Amino acid sequence: MNDLLDHLDTSAAARDLAPVEEGLPADCNTRDVLDLYRRSADPRVAPAIFRHAADLRDRHVGRSPWWSAGVSAIVPCELEPLCTYCTFFSRKAVATSDIVSAVRAIADLGIRHLHLSGGTRLPVKGEPISGYDRYLVDLVVAIRDAADVEIEVNVGPSLTRGGVRALKELGVAAVTSSLEVLNAELFAAFKPGDSLKGRIRLMELCEEEGMPIRSMMLVGLGETDADRIDHLLFLRRFSMLRHLRLSRYMPFPGTASGGVRCSPWPVARLTAIARLLYPTLDLGLAAGNDPDDMALWWLAGGGNQVIGATASMKDPRGKAGGEARAIPVGERVVVHDNMARVTRYLGELGLTPSFAPQSS
Ligand code: SF4
Repeated sequence: MNDLLDHLDTSAAARDLAPVEEGLPADCNTRDVLDLYRRSADPRVAPAIFRHAADLRDRHVGRSPWWSAGVSAIVPCELEPLCTYCTFFSRKAVATSDIVSAVRAIADLGIRHLHLSGGTRLPVKGEPISGYDRYLVDLVVAIRDAADVEIEVNVGPSLTRGGVRALKELGVAAVTSSLEVLNAELFAAFKPGDSLKGRIRLMELCEEEGMPIRSMMLVGLGETDADRIDHLLFLRRFSMLRHLRLSRYMPFPGTASGGVRCSPWPVARLTAIARLLYPTLDLGLAAGNDPDDMALWWLAGGGNQVIGATASMKDPRGKAGGEARAIPVGERVVVHDNMARVTRYLGELGLTPSFAPQSS
């Protein structure tokens, strides 16, 4: 009998589960977490695990989804070669004024939190300020002057300690370093120009500098169950980790990586296991998921940040997909407002999104 399953008490007698106070024990071992993850594949076992995870979410981060937004491709990706699955890189620099316009339009929707994301420029060894340090500092200052929003940044492993420190002084809410897949061979195969070590190093720098960390895990590249659980447990060393997002692999046409789209089931099960390991973490859905995945995500203990609007600087005049409302911003930029659809989906779950995180 798995000790952790005992801990969760998924027996028939416990179907009417009392709320759980805490997640999995801090000293739980890899083998038991892996076993729990594997058992969660069984639809007869998963609901009890999901229920515990959702109870923890309710208890620790509440039941109120809150809006964030994303502005992507703010800086070119200089990796050579590019990651084999990537379609969202840009090779072109963008005018700061266009990024600021997009941010202003997002703020006009009432959204008060956003992520600026872009490609990678690996820092130069031995140079105290390099990579995208200086660029991001200038950009954050420009945005601060134009809009009242909380800013997070995600530019791969492109920051030095000096950059992290400067962004912290500017009040940047978090730095993202996505490990994507914690299997060195797979990482090298899919991200041959990138640096897993550099990404881990950036998380360590954030930890040392007291900068909140957001990270991501890309599910479905071919990693094993053990890789997935090792990845989740590896994150235990980062006390500054505030947000983990799970991407669902999707082979985009025209990319070299191939393969098949990841099913939603492992993403939901990993969300539940992550919640049991990290009761207070924000657990989000990233690339490859869409609002159709939200119900399962919520059932499995995900929450609470949701994305209401996006703008891509790669294709600033791009058309809104699906039901998103396209908001032209000046002549060059379009913001895609998806708040109506997400609000409707959340409403069907009995949830009402707000503009700021609310405690339980
Ligand atoms: S680092 Fe990011 S932007 Fe650059 S190729 Fe890889 S996934 Fe795309």
